[in-house]
Amino acid sequence: MSGDRHGRILLSPPEVGEAEEEAVLRALRSGWIAPAGPELDAFERELAARCGRDHAVALSSGTAALHLILLALGVGPGDTVLVSTLTFVASVNPIRYVGAEPVLIDAEPDRWNIDPSLVADELADRGRRGRPPAAVVAVDLYGRCCDYSALEAVCAEHEVPLVVDAAESLGANHEGPDGVVRPAGQAGVAAVLSFNGNKIITTSGGGAVVTDDEALSDRVRHLATQAREPAAHYEHRDLGYNYRLSNLLAALGRAQLSSLDERVAGRRKVAMRYEESLGPLDGVSFPATDPGWNGWLTCLLLDPRAGLPDPESVRSELDATGIEARRAWKPMHRQPLYAEAATRLSGVADQVFDRGLCLPSSHALSTAEVDRVIDALTAALG
Ligand SMILES: *Cc1c(COP(=O)(O)O)cnc(C)c1O
Repeated sequence: MSGDRHGRILLSPPEVGEAEEEAVLRALRSGWIAPAGPELDAFERELAARCGRDHAVALSSGTAALHLILLALGVGPGDTVLVSTLTFVASVNPIRYVGAEPVLIDAEPDRWNIDPSLVADELADRGRRGRPPAAVVAVDLYGRCCDYSALEAVCAEHEVPLVVDAAESLGANHEGPDGVVRPAGQAGVAAVLSFNGNKIITTSGGGAVVTDDEALSDRVRHLATQAREPAAHYEHRDLGYNYRLSNLLAALGRAQLSSLDERVAGRRKVAMRYEESLGPLDGVSFPATDPGWNGWLTCLLLDPRAGLPDPESVRSELDATGIEARRAWKPMHRQPLYAEAATRLSGVADQVFDRGLCLPSSHALSTAEVDRVIDALTAALG
């Protein structure tokens, strides 16, 4: 059951049960009602393990996580940062928070993640001009890992740190050309996670930085706790933030994390049913098959050349029948906020936005609910 109380089928609602209730109660009764405590420590250990990393710092949001990792890497005014244009705005805003400017890079056609060849071209151009960017932020879009292997290679060649925005991909895997399989978040100097209400696991709001670099992890932790120096009196050298996750919410996160594998399997099952039913329709297409995908959101493309309607009219038609669908992310280069930003575009992101539609994707959807979406969508396509 993944509808709300009025029988609507929602895109990706939070799913909590008894395990979550018990976990929060346990934390509440333990007396650790603070942004510190044993649940927080355990959640960080479990997140690090899940992402194959040595360290995790749990924070108040994914946006805060990206903000602090950029600060910890020393990104600041006058710097540029390469970032995917096809993403949620939270991948890009932290670049402006630290006074740097984004360079918006287009997506590769199969899986819609940042195109490593465009990143390579941009790094080469900027390198020649003696103005390398301060970092590359690569997003794992809709739960598919971006090309960790190719991006790590090109970033290493140009000595630019790679940060992975894994907000949507917890539980996914990336298989390298050498056949080595790595969990989402195990690439670059650090990766950021999100536990917002619509993500694959939620703490109602939260995020994390995962990294193997102890100094970086210490720095993020320090900045997240008002940059308080270790002194009995309150001593401050740096400008800090209040960005820690609370112990109570960490307990919720632990309960959610323990069901991550079932969530991935459930979402993939939903996606498979969509693909089997809708894939054969003329003009409907899905991103390339990815065995490591976590199934976070199923998004399909509707080709107008096959006579299919535009995604906005399909979205509103589904809405009228009680089904919440969503347009694909509107690329950052088409947002008024980033209209002036530098770009390297190929047209893929534009096409995904112009044709893309995301369908209800919760692991808790029943087969009957998925079929209701399929029937409504088939009717809307005419
Ligand atoms: C959700 C999301 C974020 C931000 O996470 P919050 O926890 O909501 O701040 C960042 N990047 C992407 C790609 C996201 O989907």
